[in-house]
Amino acid sequence: MGIEFRLGGQDHKKVEDFLAGHPGGVSAIVLDTKAAKHQQAAAEAAREGDVAVYFDPATERLTAPGFDLPGLAYNPPVPYDVDQLARDHRARATLVAEVVEAHPAFVTAVTPPHFFVRDERTANLNVDLAERTLHEHGPAVRATVVLTSRFPVASAAELAREYYRAGMRVVEVRISPLGGEDEGVRKVRSAFAVLQAFSDAGLTVTAGLSGNIGQVALALGHAGHYSVGIGMRERVDHAAAISRQKQPPKPPPADGSPEGGGGPIAGIYLPGAALTVSRKIGAGYLSNTDIRTRVGGCRLGACGSSVNGPANDPRGHYLHARAAEVDKLLTAPAPWRAGIEVDRLTRARELRLMINRKYRAEDGPELPVRTINSLLEDIATEREQKTA
Ligand SMILES: [Zn+2]
Repeated sequence: MGIEFRLGGQDHKKVEDFLAGHPGGVSAIVLDTKAAKHQQAAAEAAREGDVAVYFDPATERLTAPGFDLPGLAYNPPVPYDVDQLARDHRARATLVAEVVEAHPAFVTAVTPPHFFVRDERTANLNVDLAERTLHEHGPAVRATVVLTSRFPVASAAELAREYYRAGMRVVEVRISPLGGEDEGVRKVRSAFAVLQAFSDAGLTVTAGLSGNIGQVALALGHAGHYSVGIGMRERVDHAAAISRQKQPPKPPPADGSPEGGGGPIAGIYLPGAALTVSRKIGAGYLSNTDIRTRVGGCRLGACGSSVNGPANDPRGHYLHARAAEVDKLLTAPAPWRAGIEVDRLTRARELRLMINRKYRAEDGPELPVRTINSLLEDIATEREQKTA
């Protein structure tokens, strides 16, 4: 059990150095689609610490123009047509062979090609691709399932059983769109039910790219792992990613906000507020002497000698702060974990509301609390059901 870090193209040295200290709480790293071949040292550091190493083939992005993977055999001359793939078993066999081939030798398991699951047909296509990968490569395979948030829970349960019958034992489930700070309790409940359906089918489940929602899923036992980027990728929005990749590239914004058009820049994680913000907003809070120790509040690594640590090294701080939270959860007995998350999220909500009342920057947005409220409400309901 633990947290998985999905590397970006420039993150490998940070991750290598971080993993060299054998931190608790980390269960895997996922190598970047385009930069994986440069990430061997990070992979070696992971393997030395018994941390799994995966590769993200990102095939779900290859059904529309604008996402190019030069040098990778499965990069198509024209975008993949999933209906055509569903009809053509030779094309599926070729795709599986090319994706397996594109993996660096230093992964611990292979990720099958996969496409966005919007209905039963694309669901079945993905199971077929996963099954072929198992035949081609052997049992060290982890499937990624990128699922619309409107996919019914009963269908997700059936899909999970199909994966299990096909021989799959480990899956990453990304629910799209999901994550960020504006999720209602209905959506959180349905996401947890989908993750639980995959777990109930006998699969080890990672709540993919999921931030606080993933951490609560872990605490409640709906998932065994959850993943994030490094200072980013705390949510999934497949449709937005596809529509962004179709736009011509834009220069990065001057304030270094995380969702820059010229490639994402890691935000600053504020453990006290359980929130990742842009570098500009984060630096603002951390320079405010009234609130900075409550907002930042990190004593780990280089942060021990500077209250500005999270702003000085956002990625190093993100790695140690997130991993430490997960390590704290996992070293506690399972029945206590929900309570640990309740404490963390309740404190974060109080702090966000206090900042909104007293310290909101003139041009700064109000810190949202909707997702935190939804998570706290769901935890309360689940605990009641358990003791009932
Ligand atoms: Zn720190």
